[in-house]
Formats: sequence, C-alpha cells, structure tokens
Amino acid sequence: MLLRPVPPQMYHREPVPHDADVSLRYLGTAGFVVEGAGRTVVIDPYVTRPGLWETAAKRLKPNRQLIHQLIPHADDVIIGHSHHDHVLDAPDLCIMTGARFIGSPSACNVARAGGVPEAQIVETTGHRRIIAGDATICGIPSLHGKIYGGRIPLPGVIPVPPPWPPRYSEQRCGLVLNWHIEMAGMSVVHIDSADLIESHLQGYQADVLCLCAIGRRYRKDYARTAIEMLKPRYVIACHWDWFFTDYHAEPLCLPGVNLPGFLKEISDAGATPVVLPFEGRFGVNVARLRGQAAHH
Ligand SMILES: [Zn+2]
Repeated sequence: MLLRPVPPQMYHREPVPHDADVSLRYLGTAGFVVEGAGRTVVIDPYVTRPGLWETAAKRLKPNRQLIHQLIPHADDVIIGHSHHDHVLDAPDLCIMTGARFIGSPSACNVARAGGVPEAQIVETTGHRRIIAGDATICGIPSLHGKIYGGRIPLPGVIPVPPPWPPRYSEQRCGLVLNWHIEMAGMSVVHIDSADLIESHLQGYQADVLCLCAIGRRYRKDYARTAIEMLKPRYVIACHWDWFFTDYHAEPLCLPGVNLPGFLKEISDAGATPVVLPFEGRFGVNVARLRGQAAHH
C-alpha cells in the first residue's frame, strides 16, 4: 500500500485574521477545536493515534499528556460517532478540562467507560438545540459511510459502557450525528463520515462546513450534495489522513482519498475549499463574510 503525503502547496497558510470572530484549529482525522463567542467546542478529538499493529492488537490507551498539551481547554466535546478514531480521546479530555461530553447514547457509554462524571454527559439523538454559553449545538442524524466492500465497519451500538481502555473492535459505530454549531452570528457544520441524509440536513445552513474527504469515494455526489444543501462559503477537508501515524509525523493521505478531486468538486459546487495542516487554523470575521456575500 502506497501512502503519500499531502503536497505542501495544497495547505492553507493564511494566518487567522486578528479580528476573527470564530476560529477552527485542525487536529487530524475529523478533529477540530472551534472557538468563538467565548466558547471552546472540540469535535472528534483523536490525537493518540496508535499505529496500525497496536490498534489491531492492543487495548487503546489515550495519551493523556498529549491530549492535555494539544487541547488545554474545552467547554464542550462533541462526538460524530463512536468509532475509536472519533471518540477515544474525548473522555480524558472531558475529565481534564471539565468540559461536557455530548454525543449519541453509544458515545455516552464510552464516556462512562472512560470515567466521565454523569453530570458532564449530555446524550442526544439529534434535532435538539443544546445551549452552550452564547453558542448553540445541535446534532443532525446521519449515516456512516459503507467503506469495506459496501459495509459499515463495526456497525451496531454500544449498549453498556465497554471495558476501558477499549479494543478498537469494541468501538461500535452507534448513531452518527453531524453537528450544527451557531456562534458569534455564524454557523459551522461538521460531517465526519462518508454518507449523509439529505432530508435531515434540510433547514440547516453552514458558513463553514467541515467535510470528510474520503466521503467522495463512497457516496456519489457527496460534496456537491452537502454543499447544495448547506450552502457553505468555505469547506474544510477533514478525515483525509491515514490515522495510524504519530501526531507529529508528516501526515499521509488515507488510501482512496483523492484530495485534488475533492477540492475541485467543492469549487465546482461554488464553495471555497480549505486544507489545513495539523494544528493549522482558519478564522472568519463575520461582518466581512456577510459583506463579501452581499457582493455576489
Ligand atoms: Zn467511522
């Protein structure tokens, strides 16, 4: 299997504007730290990234020191689905920061397994606006991509807290939730897997859409459909990296990801594509975003 790095010129290198109202920092896989309106919302944190052999053979022990170093602060931690590459680091992050853990019933059982106090756990099946300081967070029921031979990997739910630390095979998918975050007068939508449900996206809009880059391989017109539904100005590619490398090593593309093709599909659909390196940041000033939109 040939794993290639991202050509460095593909990365977004513009600094976050000093007057940004909302900023996003990329953590690899589907992970982001979204900051705005005095709130820090972390999505799908996964920085421990054990190697392929370790993942297959061993219990997955979150790297607390690295989690703390990379994400020292969080108010809310929201989870797209309960596969290990989306949920593993979330319980420790919530314990260390006091943040709420927000996710599906399966994801919440992972939080319980990892020792998150019940008072910090918010269970949702979507379509409920959760107040988060001056921001709101809402889950949108979705689907996991059918990856391996047309099947969802590790389907089913996690009905009770699994042993901890878990084996990767215990991290069943559970309900998939896309997330709609409203803060500082703008909205961010996060789609962390390779499928979506159009009827559930109806009525939601995104200024910034974080979209799973491998999705394009498994669902026809994936990016175009998401962009037509949500009308984002910017689309930040995520879940394009081979998540078995060390966080600080050069990221490699997941087999099957065609980043140039994904970026072209985004531009053709009328949005601006963005690829962030790990730790890369993207910021939006809302007044300028609205002003620019008025010119179109
Ligand atoms: Zn998954």
